[in-house]
Amino acid sequence: MTDSAIHDETLYDLVVIGSGPAGEGAAMKAAKDGASVAVVERAREVGGGCVHWATIPSKALRHSVGQYLELKRNPLFSAIAGQVKPGFPQLLRAAEGVIARQVAMRRDFYERNHVTVVRGQGAFVSPHELEVQTPSGARRIRGKNFVVAVGSRPYRPPGIDFSHPRVRDSDTVLKLDHTPDSVTVFGAGVVGCEYASIFRNLGVKVNLVNSRDQLLSFLDDEIVDALAYHLRDQGVVIRHNEEYERVEVKDDLVVLHLKSGKKIGSEVLLWAQGRSGNTLELGLDRVGLTADSRGLLKVDEHFRTPVPNIYAAGDVIGYPSLASASYDQGRVVAAHAVHGQADWQLQKQVPTGIYTSPEISSVGQTERELTAAGIPYEVGHSLFRSLARAQITGNTVGMLKLLFHRETLELLGIHCFGDQAAEIVHIGQAIMSQPGKANTVMYFVNTTFNYPTMAEAYRVAALNGINRLV
Ligand SMILES: Cc1cc2nc3c(=O)[nH]c(=O)nc-3n(C[C@H](O)[C@H](O)[C@H](O)COP(=O)(O)OP(=O)(O)OC[C@H]3O[C@@H](n4cnc5c(N)ncnc54)[C@H](O)[C@@H]3O)c2cc1C
Repeated sequence: MTDSAIHDETLYDLVVIGSGPAGEGAAMKAAKDGASVAVVERAREVGGGCVHWATIPSKALRHSVGQYLELKRNPLFSAIAGQVKPGFPQLLRAAEGVIARQVAMRRDFYERNHVTVVRGQGAFVSPHELEVQTPSGARRIRGKNFVVAVGSRPYRPPGIDFSHPRVRDSDTVLKLDHTPDSVTVFGAGVVGCEYASIFRNLGVKVNLVNSRDQLLSFLDDEIVDALAYHLRDQGVVIRHNEEYERVEVKDDLVVLHLKSGKKIGSEVLLWAQGRSGNTLELGLDRVGLTADSRGLLKVDEHFRTPVPNIYAAGDVIGYPSLASASYDQGRVVAAHAVHGQADWQLQKQVPTGIYTSPEISSVGQTERELTAAGIPYEVGHSLFRSLARAQITGNTVGMLKLLFHRETLELLGIHCFGDQAAEIVHIGQAIMSQPGKANTVMYFVNTTFNYPTMAEAYRVAALNGINRLV
């Protein structure tokens, strides 16, 4: 703490620490509801890890790689495509344009809504006061309520030299200045699988090392099998059930030593094994809060920490650790902090969008979960290769799978992989979230869909499932 800190006169209704989706969701909702709001952000620009190091750059990069692949695949353009071979840094440059537009737009949101943005690292002095280390010195900011929306960073185990250019995590991979010949991705969670896809689509040799016995085991088995099949088909070498022993960096390669005795050499190692909450330098001890071993905070159903005027949202509270969910959590927090309650409820089921190749998305229960719970269900499939739209676009890899109750016909789960899966899933989600009898697979049987569309997959899958009922 600094004695000479400038004390801000204002007592803000809400002080938000972090300007990622959780912080922005909270700040915007509170400001729109008439509260005075300050946002403290240590990075030079607003937007959070989401805009600068995580969701936006990885998705923009993936899109650029996808466009290049599309060009190569299309017989009309393949001759031109053969003459260009964009490298990793060139493709990343496209992402920089998107990041700049995102930052400008978000900065404007704060200005238009009269939210004070203070640049600097914030740490609690007391439950009602934060000290911020700004570029021009320390400043104290007081608030009636606080939102900890500080996000997370890649977990870095001790003993690995992350300062070496051959050793990267999801933040530093964005600074690669060339396309490597080979990459080993350690950690086959969402981030690991997404980057394995990106590198493989760029023609890089990829090893994907998984500490579990399946990829993304929270997904439906059929989708997991499809992902593993297609990644292998593209040339990704997947190794399951491996534990890391040590990393050896040599002049010409980095070697991942595994407890099973295997040694995997590649030009670059991408460490993608988990994340930690950014709570280390937050002064939590001064307000009586403690984070768990992964730096995460515990909250109640209103996103309140054990200190009643301090809320937390986004990655810092753990699951589902998605930009999508973080924004919504922030809005609920603001409503509770400003009005004492939110007059709406978030849907319990959060969809998953995984931007691998093929893309994956799902919402609701899996076959494994329904079987374990003894719920009688039926399955309806639609294969993309049988849809006119998919045949026209050439994106024929994929499937939509609907799980519904055999007796009530209510939708229980929607699982999809293939082009636009993350968009397609929302059609089913809208029906599945309807109350009572309005949630029925019959909606898709009785609805006329535009033709040719990918949405038509719903009718095909619904009829396929209904026809199975005995
Ligand atoms: C590679 C990758 C890809 C992803 N892709 C997707 C995706 O496709 N879809 C999706 O929904 N999610 C995705 N995610 C997850 C998503 O990025 C996060 O869930 C989301 O960014 C969390 O939002 P947040 O507001 O909690 O934190 P963040 O976005 O991390 O923002 C936290 C902010 O707090 C600031 N901060 C931290 N400590 C302090 C402090 N003491 N004082 C002041 N400021 C501070 C940080 O500088 C940062 O700006 C991805 C993540 C990664 C790593």
